[in-house]
Amino acid sequence: MSDSYDVIVIGAGPAGYPAAIRAGQHGLKVACLDEWKNLDGSHSFGGTCLNAGCIPSKALLESSELVHRAHAEFATHGIRLTTVEVDLAQMQKRKAGIVKTSSQGIQVLFKGAKVTGLPGHGRLLPGRQVEHSAPDGTKTVLQAKHVVLASGSTPMALSSAPFDGERIVDSWGALEFAAVPKRLGVIGAGVIGLELGSVWRRLGAEVVMLEALESFLPMTDQQLAKEALRHLKKQGLDIRLGAKVTGAVVKGGVVEVSFADAKGAQSLSVDKLVVAIGRRPQTAGLLADGTGVALDERGFIRVDNDCRTGAENIWAVGDCVRGPMLAHKGKEEGLMVADRIAGQHAEVNYKTIPAVIYTAPEIAWVGQTEEQVKATGRPYKTGVFPFLASGRARAMESTQGFAKVIAATDDDEILGVHIIGPLAGELIAEAVLAMEYSASTEDLQRTIHAHPTLSEALHEAALAADRIAIDIPNR
Ligand SMILES: Cc1cc2nc3c(=O)[nH]c(=O)nc-3n(C[C@H](O)[C@H](O)[C@H](O)COP(=O)(O)OP(=O)(O)OC[C@H]3O[C@@H](n4cnc5c(N)ncnc54)[C@H](O)[C@@H]3O)c2cc1C
Repeated sequence: MSDSYDVIVIGAGPAGYPAAIRAGQHGLKVACLDEWKNLDGSHSFGGTCLNAGCIPSKALLESSELVHRAHAEFATHGIRLTTVEVDLAQMQKRKAGIVKTSSQGIQVLFKGAKVTGLPGHGRLLPGRQVEHSAPDGTKTVLQAKHVVLASGSTPMALSSAPFDGERIVDSWGALEFAAVPKRLGVIGAGVIGLELGSVWRRLGAEVVMLEALESFLPMTDQQLAKEALRHLKKQGLDIRLGAKVTGAVVKGGVVEVSFADAKGAQSLSVDKLVVAIGRRPQTAGLLADGTGVALDERGFIRVDNDCRTGAENIWAVGDCVRGPMLAHKGKEEGLMVADRIAGQHAEVNYKTIPAVIYTAPEIAWVGQTEEQVKATGRPYKTGVFPFLASGRARAMESTQGFAKVIAATDDDEILGVHIIGPLAGELIAEAVLAMEYSASTEDLQRTIHAHPTLSEALHEAALAADRIAIDIPNR
């Protein structure tokens, strides 16, 4: 029967499309459904990450960082520019091109793995059936041996500052501005808010960030968070902590934002307001009655450690289930599920999921923060190496930040690595691999790092944990 599959995946974001491809690589008959609609109404695969998240944000972060460097650093390098002009239309065109090529790439990959990509909505019915509603309205019921739910997440709205799609926008809207706003408000100084705020600040906007929490980046190692806050404020991001937004109205072409902080009721006028207060799982219209799939109290699809929902042969992966909302976490879950469906053993090591914030300097970490380790009561040691002491960082004119290693005193096992500095997002990969193999600081100390590279900072931080660093004094 042509409408019968071994595996049907609902959602072709970074969790769903790798699951579909891996299942195809196992020789299974696979369909992957996705209803994503671009702003022009066209369809594309890749989900939030590729169309409105990771990729377009990094494209604009890269372009805007070059603008910043041209203004702030080129003269130090001995490069004189008389003017630096920003052509935002070209920047946006470049970004759109990258997104388009990447999405088309998924179709090529589907073809290679013999996955049937089906644009349109998918709804799980009882008995492992999936109702597919095609963009032309045609409905078909498909049968599967296994179904993988990978429906992702959507931006959370704030009732006191409702989206209007024009002046008050979500993170996607903030990636699409056709002009640099003179004054930009960002509600939420989390990962997404900081990245978007950085883009528009570097392009010349005055950026005010209102964060309801009193602490900055509470999930990160606080030594790192303190350093980050210092650098970001220096760049002109006006980050206000403990600022709770109470209302936002559009009046005369500007957004009047009211908020309360330690000083009492305050107000702010901005040209655009971005609401970046987090994301919630996307499950609307996904589950018919009687499927046996349950949601938890926060709306996430309930799964066990192996991403089984509890309904026979129904799995769920990515942002729609518990755990950090990160593309690479979803990808590993998708691959694990596809391998398990094919009868192989596979698992995800949730203790070694790296996190990266693509500000300048970049922020990246894996494992436990010093605060978390301290709370366990286990004796530990730390080693910190500043990029100021790195020859490569000095040559790059990027000496901000440090690498920090936290390890157990008893058996020397590395418990966490935290980096703020140039290309921290790339450097953290070595720490992830080290922790995946339960490495000790001695393993890192005895691993040869090429000179002069930024990666030497991690080597030296591991040496510093035992007070035997070479390129900094040991205290
Ligand atoms: C601005 C921004 C920047 C980000 N940057 C990063 C980053 O640098 N690194 C990182 O790791 N993460 C980043 N993220 C988070 C990342 O985008 C998500 O973690 C990731 O996209 C989750 O993948 P997913 O496959 O679970 O869901 P999604 O990417 O949300 O994909 C789900 C797909 O399922 C489709 N779908 C949903 N329901 C149905 C249905 N019933 N039928 C058919 N299709 C359906 C949706 O249309 C969508 O295409 C960023 C997010 C944003 C918003």
